Amino acid sequence: MSSDASTPLRSAMPRKKRFFDPVGSDDYVRGRVFCVECGASLRGKLVTDRCECGHTVTDSVYGDFLMYQEQRDLRRLNSALGLLQYTGITILALIALGVISAVSSAANAEDALASIFEMAFTLAILTPLPATLGITLVTRKRSLAYYRARYGDARFLAIVTGAAAILLVMVVLIRDPYRKALANTLLIAFTGTPSLIFLMGFSRLMRHMPHRALANIAFGLFVVTCVLTAVCWGVLLMRPFAADDDNLGGLVLTLQGISIMIGLGVGATTVHMLIKARRSVAAFAR
Ligand SMILES: [Zn+2]
Repeated sequence: MSSDASTPLRSAMPRKKRFFDPVGSDDYVRGRVFCVECGASLRGKLVTDRCECGHTVTDSVYGDFLMYQEQRDLRRLNSALGLLQYTGITILALIALGVISAVSSAANAEDALASIFEMAFTLAILTPLPATLGITLVTRKRSLAYYRARYGDARFLAIVTGAAAILLVMVVLIRDPYRKALANTLLIAFTGTPSLIFLMGFSRLMRHMPHRALANIAFGLFVVTCVLTAVCWGVLLMRPFAADDDNLGGLVLTLQGISIMIGLGVGATTVHMLIKARRSVAAFAR
């Protein structure tokens, strides 16, 4: 299925040339670009053309504005945003319950802060689930055929397998305290990366809506989440040494307090942003 021929493709294309623009000045696709619908290579096609499957080339290269997209895709986006919104609300509610129980059971303020951090971080390890859902269902409307064409090739798989093997060897060979530090770093990367990719993609999606305000909020959340990830990384790295050092203990406690505040702020703002985005998509999906 393809949108009707009167769709103003030209206006859907950002006019600003980017540094890594896969389209040459003659409007032919030069880079390694695949159709988001069928996975066919688009190299050598005019950017204003259509793929053999009927999908527009601009959508695969730049992403068309949402308002020009098919109702089917908009409805799918609407329900994906709904799913994401309720997953986010559930995680926030769990964290709120955990905060209440940690505060009521702790002997003093320091204990409360440490156990809230522990609990909030444990729940944060769940966020790759909604973030990955968001990346696959919301920010990327790419088909399985696309991923097979883009990432299924032998060279890419060899690089990924090689990197994973090197990491595994490092985990096995090194000893504490470096081993613990590496494990914590991998945990931080696992927890933070999906959310960062999602927020960046969401910002791009909102620019294509176009909804500049939400795009800026998503980008702001991306920056704040980078800071939050770094602060949590610092806490995990310093915590093993904090028991023997009062100054370090105080710093770790402060950083835990800061990251709880930032984390709750990021969570609440993200859910609020999803609700607003869903409302805007629903306005296009008649
Ligand atoms: Zn295609």
